[in-house]
Amino acid sequence: MAGNWTSKIKVFIPPNVEVGSSLYKNELSKLDIPVYRGIITNVNHTNTKVESVTPDSGEKIEVDTLWWIPSKRPSPLIQRLVENLGLEVDEQQCNVKTDQMQQTNVKGLFAVGDIAGSMGALAAAHDSGKAATSIVHEWYHH
Ligand SMILES: Cc1cc2nc3c(=O)[nH]c(=O)nc-3n(C[C@H](O)[C@H](O)[C@H](O)COP(=O)(O)OP(=O)(O)OC[C@H]3O[C@@H](n4cnc5c(N)ncnc54)[C@H](O)[C@@H]3O)c2cc1C
Repeated sequence: MAGNWTSKIKVFIPPNVEVGSSLYKNELSKLDIPVYRGIITNVNHTNTKVESVTPDSGEKIEVDTLWWIPSKRPSPLIQRLVENLGLEVDEQQCNVKTDQMQQTNVKGLFAVGDIAGSMGALAAAHDSGKAATSIVHEWYHH
């Protein structure tokens, strides 16, 4: 999909990440997308304009834009809610568990969007609509 935006794609994969099937690797090489293994130790820029990255191999690889997927980590706020309110989270402790209407196991506490495991801005807005509906529903029925 990203190939529709630019023909100059470079993929960087840390050494601890398994590179899927050979099918996936073949797809990348068919599209002429170079894959670099290593940990990026430096993002080189001038006045905040990204110019290149340096992996631990030491070479400088030119890039204009970086798009990365951060490793999943629960936010400190979620950790505190888990400890203080007994908020339920999924097995990886990344996403807050909710029912279909975004209500968590803590009454009156709703979770929407990324933190509830939804994908993207539209899904976050959709979740929020459901949470708002639940809240208004509560007002009229209690
Ligand atoms: C580079 C990039 C590109 C993306 N492109 C797309 C796209 O093209 N289409 C798409 O649908 N989605 C895209 N997304 C995903 C989309 O941005 C998110 O799914 C969406 O913003 C989730 O909304 P949210 O309300 O759950 O979280 P957020 O938008 O992250 O809002 C959470 C807010 O909570 C605040 N916050 C955090 N901790 C605290 C605290 N302790 N106290 C007070 N406030 C706090 C944060 O500052 C932030 O403002 C992209 C994401 C990224 C990173």
